Amino acid sequence: MKKILILTAGFDDDHHSTARNLRDALEIKDPCARVEILDLFSNSNEAFTSLLQRTRQSLTQYAPLLWSGWRSRPDENVLLERKAAGFSQLQARLEKAFLLAQPDCVLSTSPIYGQLIDKIFKNHRKRPFRLVTVVMEILAANPAWNRSSSDYFFVPNESVAESLKKNGVPVSSIGISGFPVNPVFAATRMDLTAPGKNGLRRILYLVHSGKKKTGKAVERLLGNPLAQVTVVAGREPHLRAKLLERFEGQKSRVEILGWTNQLAELLRNHHLVIGKAGHVVHEAAAACCPIIVNHAETAQEEANAQWVRNSAIGEVVDKNREAAEMVERAFDHDSARWMDWQRNLKKASRPDAALQVADWVLKEADRDKAIILDPAASPAQERVMRASPRQPGAQPQMLLCDFHIHSNYSDGSMSVPELIDFYGERGFDCICITDHLADPRRLLGKLSELTNLTLGANQVEEYFRVIERERERAWRRYEMLVMTGIEFNKDGLTSKTSAHLLGIDLKSPINPALDLPETIARIHEQGGLAVASHPHVMKSEWGKNTLYLWENQEQFAPLLDAWEIANRDNIFNDIGLKRLPFIANSDLHKPRHIYSWKTLIHCEKDPEVIKQCIRRNEHVAITLYRDFSSSRAFPEPHAFTAPAAARRPSGSSLLMAAAN
Ligand code: ZN
Ligand code: ZN
Repeated sequence: MKKILILTAGFDDDHHSTARNLRDALEIKDPCARVEILDLFSNSNEAFTSLLQRTRQSLTQYAPLLWSGWRSRPDENVLLERKAAGFSQLQARLEKAFLLAQPDCVLSTSPIYGQLIDKIFKNHRKRPFRLVTVVMEILAANPAWNRSSSDYFFVPNESVAESLKKNGVPVSSIGISGFPVNPVFAATRMDLTAPGKNGLRRILYLVHSGKKKTGKAVERLLGNPLAQVTVVAGREPHLRAKLLERFEGQKSRVEILGWTNQLAELLRNHHLVIGKAGHVVHEAAAACCPIIVNHAETAQEEANAQWVRNSAIGEVVDKNREAAEMVERAFDHDSARWMDWQRNLKKASRPDAALQVADWVLKEADRDKAIILDPAASPAQERVMRASPRQPGAQPQMLLCDFHIHSNYSDGSMSVPELIDFYGERGFDCICITDHLADPRRLLGKLSELTNLTLGANQVEEYFRVIERERERAWRRYEMLVMTGIEFNKDGLTSKTSAHLLGIDLKSPINPALDLPETIARIHEQGGLAVASHPHVMKSEWGKNTLYLWENQEQFAPLLDAWEIANRDNIFNDIGLKRLPFIANSDLHKPRHIYSWKTLIHCEKDPEVIKQCIRRNEHVAITLYRDFSSSRAFPEPHAFTAPAAARRPSGSSLLMAAAN
């Protein structure tokens, strides 16, 4: 039995109906599946009410921000982040829900859940379920949606997909499903043709709550003798009674319905629907029924209305009395405008969106079962306990980092496990192993692969696997984060045609034969950092300088996330002078290289936060790491050129050069 947990946030009806639609679709596709809907923000749970009361105000304040991505500003996202950070009680409740539900797959319809889930399973801990996010925006995705590590995103249309892509989500993790309307829309297909010159025009009028002037509006529509109107009064019995009385004499032309669950059929057999820009916009689109929007209040509704305009599947009127006029125009000139809307609807209509999402989720739920049942994996209980919000990693702290390290997979002297212990014992917080991978198209690349100075093409997968395995041990034993990286060697015949590029925190191998901009794009697709290694003139025992990126900085500065401001003993003033984002690394090949420049970052011990600090050039400093007291362990083979006084040992010291 597959266990699916749907997380919804009941800020509006949209969320609840989307959650129910997804549940219906899952149950159609797999009647044995156990599907549960959880709304952490609902007050149905007694014990949860007081918490809600305390957070409600902040929720209502930020909720509209979630849905207004198309006009959001960066500081709104920061605000959202801060609010999310305060939700430790929500986090605890969500952890409990995971323990109880033991889901194979979690479907989220709000960005807040992705962020909470990331907090629960942080520091590279394996999340014991797949996370699928259903992006409920229609114009563009607010960056809040992809700030979490969702396995997959379903979006309603191409423009939302495009915005996610722009925010760095890989194309392979985005599915365009359409807006998940109820699966019943996929079952009822009936294509209405345009009314002939004297044919009846069937108009569906949906009353939104508190609308007093409905009678007048219907009368205006009936002004055209060809109009036939169906009014859905909803859950307003008084209004319905009043309308029934008012149109008593015109029963053949007006039908007054109360609450109905036949909306799919109604939309299918009416030429036009008039209503507010809520969920019905998506249902009308699914049913290929052009819509005239007569009301939009919330940011979400405004976005829906804008989408109706953009996709030319209907019209938006400012005043309700313009609706009747708009209906007339739709059927003018042999219904030319109506037929345009219909044509566009056929392109936009995706009535099976929820079923598509369900298919994918059920497939993924199966796949992950193997991981969950694996006894070697730490049990969910322990995982959740260890990820308690009180863990030290959740607080900002000064983190000692080294993002440029070579193992014996290329020309380093230590194995990956040896490196983990070497750095772990020295109290490092975050390291990235970055073995060389040479461009096979270049002669020097071929040579170095033959002499085992770089990763062999057939070793790359294994390299990723080994680091992945060691990553967990490093955390267990040292609370040290380990990232997988690659140093892409693009060696030409001269220093000006040579470049070394670090890909930091990669999830999978990247073809070394790609050119530099494309390699950088691949790194970004994986959420990694692209950093220029030793980009400036330096003293090196390893060969010539690599100046190509620096010489072409107009092209590469906008593409790169950071530059090495220091590499081992070399420090590059120009990088600092240009105020470029920077890090400092050992470029460690041998144990003694540990005594060199390092990066310090003041933030939470969390890979995503660390990377974000580097990208933003925020809370990053460099330090010269020395430990003279134990330096005898690694005798210095090369002569110092600095005066003796500069080398006077003063015990263990960190000389910090802070930067802004
Ligand atoms: Zn290098
Ligand atoms: Zn290197």
